[in-house]
Amino acid sequence: MGDGSVAFASAQLKEGTASFFPMELPARAAAALSASGSFDGSRGGMHSSRPDRILREIVSDSMLAMAQVLQDFPCETLEVLRETVRSMVDAPEKRDKLSSLPRKLERRSDLTAEVLGRANKTQLEILVAIKTGMATFVTGKGRVSVSELVEMFLKTRCRNMNCKSAVPVDDCECKICSTKKGFCSACMCPVCQKFDCAANTCSWVGCDVCSHWCHAACALEKNLIRPGPTLKGAMGTTEMQFQCLGCNHASEMFGFVKEVFNCCAEN
Ligand SMILES: [Zn+2]
Ligand SMILES: [Zn+2]
Ligand SMILES: [Zn+2]
Ligand SMILES: [Zn+2]
Repeated sequence: MGDGSVAFASAQLKEGTASFFPMELPARAAAALSASGSFDGSRGGMHSSRPDRILREIVSDSMLAMAQVLQDFPCETLEVLRETVRSMVDAPEKRDKLSSLPRKLERRSDLTAEVLGRANKTQLEILVAIKTGMATFVTGKGRVSVSELVEMFLKTRCRNMNCKSAVPVDDCECKICSTKKGFCSACMCPVCQKFDCAANTCSWVGCDVCSHWCHAACALEKNLIRPGPTLKGAMGTTEMQFQCLGCNHASEMFGFVKEVFNCCAEN
């Protein structure tokens, strides 16, 4: 299914390029190409400002013009661009020069599904990596289809490669899902917005009512796990409860909390 959508999208892209580009754009692309003449892929020899400049253009300039520019780049040049994005996302000390890119991208309102669907695939992978802060999109393996990348960019699909659920999951209208900021209740913690063991804990606590899960450590830190009046015990007694950020329901935790505290003590 993934392959099918890629093929479909690239066919669309070709048509789009033919009918969409005004006359001056190929000239612009040629200028950008000659400007990248020293962009020869030999990492030691390449001027370090060149990929930075192209990345800034990808974030700020016309989507279709940059699609044309990237389409004519050789594979090595695209790999240098990917590597620059990887280092920008992974190494905070290299971030300063490019640190404004995510904010610039956030401010653009012209990047609709239709426009994004006409992007060059590498261009789209770079945009999604910058927007999500995840280097996994620029590994060069192209594991995510164009249509999925577009949805991840627009925050209607989970950015976790191992999940990729359409979000909000089950059209959930809870306080968190309804903000439509890409939160995925199938795999993410509502406190830190990370998935799997990214927050240095593998213990999760769940809500009885809405089934949204939260890192136990994050819930403790936000004081979401605390004693509350019990429904089942004698009047006036308390039980440890987890208060859900999504629906506000307090789930009783009984013996489970002991395991949570043990796990956190290890970290
Ligand atoms: Zn929800
Ligand atoms: Zn997910
Ligand atoms: Zn968390
Ligand atoms: Zn809940």
